[in-house]
Amino acid sequence: MATRPIIEYPTPVLLSPGEPVVNFDGELEALVQDMFDTMYDAGGVGLAAQQIGVPLRLFVMDCDGIRLVAANPEIISVEGEQSGEEGCLSVGKVPADLKRPDRAVLRAQDLMGKTFEREANGLAARCFLHETDHCDGILFIRHLSPLRRDLVTRKFRKMKKER
Ligand SMILES: [Zn+2]
Repeated sequence: MATRPIIEYPTPVLLSPGEPVVNFDGELEALVQDMFDTMYDAGGVGLAAQQIGVPLRLFVMDCDGIRLVAANPEIISVEGEQSGEEGCLSVGKVPADLKRPDRAVLRAQDLMGKTFEREANGLAARCFLHETDHCDGILFIRHLSPLRRDLVTRKFRKMKKER
């Protein structure tokens, strides 16, 4: 088991799009293993490579019965709306209410480079959207109103000081 430090807001690697994954090799496999280890250790349900400082379009998740690795993910369709709380390991898990589509279809490549599509709703759909956003350099707080975003980042800064 190898965990890696989680990179936190506002580190620049979190705020720029990742590079496409092109090598589906043992190195990628080892990286993905570290990502799962880091995610489980932190009590998260999803983790993008940027969050451990690796600027690749890659995420892992284990959320609501869906455990997968997604390289070069894209959201190909969304439907409906859900409300609920969302948080991010890179923003100290400070929760905020955020409306998201209720259903999402993810297209990505697995560890072998094979393209797959997966549909989810509820929490798992939220996870698809949150993690794919990470790969595009977008944190969930960017979807909040300026006031709410400020509230979350202030809470997070305070938390960091008290650590
Ligand atoms: Zn996140």
